[in-house]
Amino acid sequence: MPKEIDFSSYECDCGHQSHFFANTIKEAKAISQKRTVRLGDSEADEHTIVFEHGKMVDILCPKTDSQRRFQRKRARRG
Ligand SMILES: [Zn+2]
Repeated sequence: MPKEIDFSSYECDCGHQSHFFANTIKEAKAISQKRTVRLGDSEADEHTIVFEHGKMVDILCPKTDSQRRFQRKRARRG
């Protein structure tokens, strides 16, 4: 499971760490009370942190989740 290292840093199952400004996380969590928020860390192997209901619920990993993301994309269109 992905974990929250501190208020604005997250660690993926693969060991990748994503660091954000505290304000960015604060805003993402606030918006996620109403809808799902996806936050990319803009690094070479970009990880996307997913927030729902005011908290982090998932990290999309380019190393292990590419297939899952593809399926989600198709599901949305269908
Ligand atoms: Zn990862």
